[in-house]
Amino acid sequence: MDLIKLTISEAKKGLKKKEFSARELTENYLERIKKLNPQLNAFITVCEKEALESADHADKLILQGETWEAQPLLGIPFSMKDVYSTKNIRTTAGSKILENYLPPYNASVYQKLIDSGAILLGKTNCDAWGHGSSTENSDFGPTKNPWNLDYVPGGSSGGSAAVLAADMTIFEIGEDTGGSIRLPSAFCATVGLKVTYGRVSRYGAISYASSLDSMGPMGKNVSDVAEILSVIAGSDSHDATSSPRPVEDYSSSLNQDIKGLKIGIPSEFFSKGLNSEIKDAINKALQIFKEKGAEIVDISLPHTEDGIATYYLIASSETSSNLARYDGIRFGNDREYFGQEAKKRIMLGTYALSSGYYDQYYLKAQKVRSLIKNDFEKAFNKCEVILAPVSPIPPFKLGEKIADPLQMYLVDVYTVLINLAGIPSLALPCGFSKAGLPIGMQIIGPQFSEKSLLNVGYQYEQATDWQKMKPEL
Ligand code: GLN
Repeated sequence: MDLIKLTISEAKKGLKKKEFSARELTENYLERIKKLNPQLNAFITVCEKEALESADHADKLILQGETWEAQPLLGIPFSMKDVYSTKNIRTTAGSKILENYLPPYNASVYQKLIDSGAILLGKTNCDAWGHGSSTENSDFGPTKNPWNLDYVPGGSSGGSAAVLAADMTIFEIGEDTGGSIRLPSAFCATVGLKVTYGRVSRYGAISYASSLDSMGPMGKNVSDVAEILSVIAGSDSHDATSSPRPVEDYSSSLNQDIKGLKIGIPSEFFSKGLNSEIKDAINKALQIFKEKGAEIVDISLPHTEDGIATYYLIASSETSSNLARYDGIRFGNDREYFGQEAKKRIMLGTYALSSGYYDQYYLKAQKVRSLIKNDFEKAFNKCEVILAPVSPIPPFKLGEKIADPLQMYLVDVYTVLINLAGIPSLALPCGFSKAGLPIGMQIIGPQFSEKSLLNVGYQYEQATDWQKMKPEL
């Protein structure tokens, strides 16, 4: 059995039947990481010693009769974007400011995962502070796309999607402020969920833009993502913006018929600017949904064009405030260690928030944000979910866009709107370009519709083979 190819449920089955131990499973991944990380640069930190200790502990519990009902992820290795505080394990946010930072406490998401028995393999590469769409802004060097090493894996959680595609982990936790879970998922043919704002606690995750940041699961298929969400979702007394809504069992309802489901197609997303291979792949996906009895409805999101400007104003303003805490006095290196992109965003954000300009920029952006939110509310009167591309273009080459920030920002045109509206969106693979690079789509729903999005995604996944395809490495 090839242990590195397993999904969560397959790995659990093997552990239950004692076909292998948690230690064997973990060792296989650590070996795979050693072999591939020099080429891919997808992990910033690998915690081999801690991982093996946790694996031995899991094996002991399994021997003592501990069940997966009590600890749903017992013995399952995983990794996290390097923005989650992990006590005494280096946490950098992809920035040299935090090059040697050891957090004194755990992020709530991480605590929930280790409490459920999961084993942390390491922390994955990302654009510094989440600023970017390619991982080229990481101070630790870019991650390469496992499907073609000349291409970017998307960003900012590029390391997260790369380690999944390359079978260097079983599951991942990413972070999405304006597309950072969904774009890498699309560029690497993996599955990622941007949750409703507040569904998962932000406590202990290094903030990029606090009103937009969403913590979410990434996996090799939809049912794994559902299973992880059931563990990490929920209210948290440490995060006042986390929702008190009860957590649903996201795995139990993945087989609901979608006959009569109304799928909205936003005309603005399919106009000029969308790559024709992506358009074709989404049309083929639509065909599959139609065969399953779904109804296609035309909808309009009239403020789509304002998304990028609105998002980059709000995100820069909030990040300029969040990054003020790195003053080089309490922890971390001096501010001169900030990279170019962070400095640019701090300046832009400070400008937009300064008196005299606040009304003109920040306040205006907030008003447009309300209009964008209203667009979605109106659309959801006509349909239950919205089907859309994740990115207007397929994965691009390393170095291709880094010198032209506007071109880089435009890649986020279809993803940022979802964060501005605070709603959930599931990204999953829907094809490959002629050049052999992945194409992804997103299924967007109203607030707290995660359960239904996962079901719709699962229905599609069952009808296709994309998740079975693997890069040659
Ligand atoms: N690419 C977007 C940005 O640079 C989104 C990043 C994110 O979601 N963390 O802001």
